[in-house]
Amino acid sequence: MVGVRILLDKGGKIVFSSKRTSESECVFCMIAARKEPANIVYEDEKYFAFLDAFPFSRGHTLVCPKKHGETIWDMDEGEIGELFRTASRVSKAIVSAVGADGFRFVQNNGEAANQVVAHVHVHVIPVRMEDRGRFADRKRFSGEEMRATAGSIRNAMGPA
Ligand SMILES: [Zn+2]
Repeated sequence: MVGVRILLDKGGKIVFSSKRTSESECVFCMIAARKEPANIVYEDEKYFAFLDAFPFSRGHTLVCPKKHGETIWDMDEGEIGELFRTASRVSKAIVSAVGADGFRFVQNNGEAANQVVAHVHVHVIPVRMEDRGRFADRKRFSGEEMRATAGSIRNAMGPA
C-alpha cells in the first residue's frame, strides 16, 4: 500500500496528498512494537511518545497513537482529543524536565506539510525565551544525552 493518496474536493481540486505506508513498513509502528530503537518517554494502552531522533531542541518529542493511521483524518474525533490530551500531559513533563520557557505543538499532514513519516504524530517542541519567534535548526545530541533527556522526562511524567 505504498503510494500517494490524493483527495479531491467537490470541485475536483486536489486538496491533499500523503505518502501511504503499511503498518509492517512503518517505522513508528516498529518503535511501538520495540522492533526499532527509540527513547520512549511515555506509553499507555493507546498512545506512546518518544524523542525525535533529529530534534529542534532538547526534549523534542513525538506523541503518537499506537493504532496506525497516516494523518489526523484517519482518527475519529474522540481519538484526536485523546492524542492531544496525551500531548498536553507529555508537554508538562518535557517543559519541567528540560527547563523550557514554552513549547510548540506541530502536527503535519501530507508531504506538502513536510510530514516525513506517514503515521500520525504530534511534535512537542520545547522552546526557550532566547529562541522566541524563531524556528530552530535540527540538532544532534549524543546517544548518552538523548537517554539522559528521556530519563528526565520519564521521571517528570510520574505514574500514568
Ligand atoms: Zn504506523
